[in-house]
This record gives sequence, structure tokens and C-alpha cells, in this order.
Amino acid sequence: MRCIKCHTKAVIGLPRHNAAFCNPCFTEFVHDQVARAIKAERMFGKQDRILVAVSGGKDSLALWDILLKLGYRADALYVNLGIGSYSERSQQKVQTFADTVAATYGATLHIHKVEQEEGAGIRELADLVHRPTCSTCGTIKRYQFNRAAIEREYDVMATGHNLDDEAARLLGNVLHWQDDYLDKQGPSLPASVEGFAKKVKPLYRLAEREVAAYAVLNKIDYIVEECPMAKGSKMLLYKDVLNRLETESPGTKQRFYWGFLERQAKERPAASSMTEKDRASLHPCAACGQPTTAEMCSYCKMMARAKVSHSRTTGS
Ligand code: SF4
Ligand code: ZN
Repeated sequence: MRCIKCHTKAVIGLPRHNAAFCNPCFTEFVHDQVARAIKAERMFGKQDRILVAVSGGKDSLALWDILLKLGYRADALYVNLGIGSYSERSQQKVQTFADTVAATYGATLHIHKVEQEEGAGIRELADLVHRPTCSTCGTIKRYQFNRAAIEREYDVMATGHNLDDEAARLLGNVLHWQDDYLDKQGPSLPASVEGFAKKVKPLYRLAEREVAAYAVLNKIDYIVEECPMAKGSKMLLYKDVLNRLETESPGTKQRFYWGFLERQAKERPAASSMTEKDRASLHPCAACGQPTTAEMCSYCKMMARAKVSHSRTTGS
């Protein structure tokens, strides 16, 4: 197998592109895909300050690495969920990357510890509010990432969702006909109102195995194991199904997700009218001021419930 660009020995084959690359040409391919995503979706410019949501996994660390190497001003936020040794190990991976690669670009790592800030680890909080761990986690991460981006005056928040993540999410949304989620699923979500940061997904053109190969070839030390709470999740099932289709018919995931984006671009109302719609239904949360459609945002409601439940169990 030879590299289609320089004809030296290839290290990776990409059936969906009918291509193979050597190490340097593959890195160039990955950088090019991210640059195209940023441009096509008007995600941000060289002057913008970007906050990358990092977890210690391959996708978010690769994204931070790529953005810095492409010359963007990218800092990162890590949320430590308090899931025992898993959280310790993942924070260590993030810290190592911050102290080595990111430090050479003068980039900063912010850390939010759920046990300290919310008063208990994610599993205990989920028990207190009687909700599944992952939905509790989602509420806290969304809230804290947005808050950090707004309070620290970042222009945009970037997450490491790749093509596989987005295709699996799309499959889930289609299977359940979740129109609201389908409307909002895309690689670039504008800051619809004051208090909500713009959110982008610059890896949406790259498959999971391509991001993993980039991380390995560029010697990024990441946490390989999944979060222990992910076991049995629907997302893993959808990814598995899509992987089977992809093996039989390379390019399926890309056609499914990119095809959805093309249709969405044609059918979606203009971005400005979406913003008007959001603006009309949102107002500041009575407790924290972040935009919400209810009186209190879901984070504040959840934390209030956790407090009541905690004082009931401890009698304090
Ligand atoms: Fe959070 Fe669940 Fe993802 Fe773990 S698997 S990081 S608990 S959403
Ligand atoms: Zn609130």
C-alpha cells in the first residue's frame, strides 16, 4: 500500500476516500479536513479565542492539538466528574498534554472539579436527583462549559465530536423522530442569545478511527478506556450498527451525516430567524442568570433537588 500523495509506504488506508497515506501526508490530510470544516461552517477565525472541552480521550486532545498546530488561539477546560480512578487517570492525561504540547503554544488549561464545586461526584449526584448518571453528567457539563466560555470571554466553545459520534446521534434522533434535536444537530450552533456561547464541532469530517490514528501517529497520550458509565449506552449500539454498515459499504456514515447536513442547509430557516425564535422563548434563570426557557435552568433545578435530597438523607 503506497501513499497517494508522495508514493512512499502508507501507514493507513481510508476506504471511504479510496486513499492511503504515509504518516506526514495523513497528518496533512487531517489538518486539511479540520481547516475545511472550520471554513465551511464559519466556525471561527484566527483572532477568536476558543475554549476546547477536553476529557482526556483521543478526540478532544487531538482537536486541541490540531487547532494549536493550525495557529488558532485555543485554551481548554477539563471537567473532573469524580468517577474514582478513571477521573484521576483522565485528568492526568489532560495535564500531561497541557504541560507539554499546549505549553509550547502558551495555551491554558482550566479545570472544574464536580466534587468540589457541586459538592459530590457525578454518581452520588445522580442518585440524589434520581436521574441516570449520563443525563446528570450532560446537564452539568453543558452548564459548566457554557459558563466558563461566557465568564472567561471566549468567542466559541469547541468539542471533539467526530463523524461517528454525529452519525450515531443522527441515527438515534431519526429512530425516535426527535424533531427538536434534529433541528439543532449540526457542526456549528450560533450564540443565539446573550449568555449562550457559540458551539462548534471541527472534527465532524473525520471518522473515529482517523482521529485515533492521528492521535497515535502524533504521539498524543490519551485515555483509551471509555468512561465506565458508558457501558450499555444506546450511542455505543448505534455506533456498532453503523460500523457494520460501513464495513460492508465504505462511506455510509459520511453519506448519512453529510447528506443530512446538505438537506438541513436547504430546508433550514435562515440563521437569523432561528435566533429570533430562540430569543423569544429564553430569559435569564432566576437563580444563576443563564438563559433558560423555564423559570430556573435545568442545572439550578437539579442542584436545588440534590440539596433537598441530601438534607433529607442526612437530616441536616
Ligand atoms: Fe458523562 Fe455518561 Fe459520558 Fe461518562 S459516559 S462522561 S457519565 S455522559
Ligand atoms: Zn440557573
